[in-house]
Amino acid sequence: MIKGITYRNASNQICKNIAREPMNRDEAVIDYTLLENNNNLYSPFVDLKNYEKEGIKAIPILIARGCTEKCTFCFNNSNGRFRSREITSIIEEINIKRKIFKTNVFWMVDPTFTLREKYSEKLCDAIKKHCNGIVWYCETRSDCSLFLLKKMVDSGCISIDFALESGAPHVLKEIKKRLDLTKLKDFAINSKKLGIRSLVFVMYGLPKETFSDFQETMKLLYELKPYLYTISFGAALILPGTEMERNAIEQNLLPENFSWFDKNSDIPQWKGRMSNEEKEKCYKLLCDFKKDLDKEPLVKYICKTWYNLTRVENKSIILFGGGSHTKFLLEILRKNKLDFPRYILDDNMVDIKIDGVEVISPNAINFIDSDIIILSTDTYPNVFDERCRELFQDIEIIKLYKTEV
Ligand code: SF4
Repeated sequence: MIKGITYRNASNQICKNIAREPMNRDEAVIDYTLLENNNNLYSPFVDLKNYEKEGIKAIPILIARGCTEKCTFCFNNSNGRFRSREITSIIEEINIKRKIFKTNVFWMVDPTFTLREKYSEKLCDAIKKHCNGIVWYCETRSDCSLFLLKKMVDSGCISIDFALESGAPHVLKEIKKRLDLTKLKDFAINSKKLGIRSLVFVMYGLPKETFSDFQETMKLLYELKPYLYTISFGAALILPGTEMERNAIEQNLLPENFSWFDKNSDIPQWKGRMSNEEKEKCYKLLCDFKKDLDKEPLVKYICKTWYNLTRVENKSIILFGGGSHTKFLLEILRKNKLDFPRYILDDNMVDIKIDGVEVISPNAINFIDSDIIILSTDTYPNVFDERCRELFQDIEIIKLYKTEV
């Protein structure tokens, strides 16, 4: 019997096996060295496109699981345990994956990277010492010390995701989100000062939240705006194993005949004090806020991405597409004293130079090797992406623009 799984048997009945004992995370980590000399083994199973952050391949490294906080909507605390891995084993895995996947960009997988400050400080010291040159991002709480934040930056942290959820203290209390809103603002300011990009999580339609509470959230978001890089948001969802789910069952708030095992059921939203129209308004306000926010850091994002690729990863870049995006990009590179691409590929503009860079036909190019990154740079990134993939199989393609220039 496989412990810890739930399945349907031949008669379509749901069967739950007994829970598995907690595993030692370090023992559960895959031995990547076995695959080191046979990289092809990865390709059918690992789609690296699933591991991208801001268009850059970022390899996940498990740091810790679980959380000792009590947020009612969150599944990470469902068993109340927090387990982190041995630092030596993490360092070893980073260095092996760095070699195998030929990347210096990592995603430190931990629901709250800074929850145990001393451990995180030691981990940052070890990364700095043994994995020099990597850059990484993580999800974290906003109540960590400036000392740790500096150590994170010093060891390569370039981006963090943290939660606000709501700007109304009584809503935070209701969802048991232990958050000091003044500290959160300082955290955002300090992160920005240290050059870390911040993504903030926000929810609407939370228990006891009214539309006027949500307006407090928006007010705070606008105060935080100068320090934020982007935002991720959504309606409050009832997730399995959470306190919110238990409350929903008690209060009979789940849809009739709802089952987690029905693949046609949507994840239910919390039915709180907001009407559907009010929730739609919240969504629209957050969309506008995000749109506004995403415009601003584009230049910085381009610089950072370019810097990471050319200086950290040492890659030589060819641009695909000679349109307005490319001109915009070259202007940014020039202004910021960054390296220029080797070539620009474009079907319609061959034998000219754009800002000093030679334009050649994608069909004529016969010297691409797997070391070269092509940035799709036009208003139809998906079309160009497909074309690039057809022409240059096995080459990593990065879509630089997610927003219109
Ligand atoms: S939301 Fe974050 S802090 Fe709260 S329980 Fe989940 S992981 Fe922990």
